[in-house]
Amino acid sequence: TYVVLENCIKCKYMDCVEVCPVDCFYEGENMLVIHPDECIDCGVCEPECPAEAILPDTDPASESVMDLNKKWADIW
Ligand code: SF4
Repeated sequence: TYVVLENCIKCKYMDCVEVCPVDCFYEGENMLVIHPDECIDCGVCEPECPAEAILPDTDPASESVMDLNKKWADIW
């Protein structure tokens, strides 16, 4: 799955949402997140993000925000 990092906060662009084939972006309090169970790992959103805030969960930088993505995607 892909995750949204905190540099998404207050980003006004929604390019990622527009390209996602499965609509798995959700709106958190001040940032977007990706639903980890709905993301099909296609990767098209990553280069579209102007804030470079999207990474695959295989990247160590994604670890700290995984819980945040789950929380706002309403998994808990
Ligand atoms: Fe959507 Fe693909 Fe990005 Fe997952 S990797 S959030 S399915 S665009």
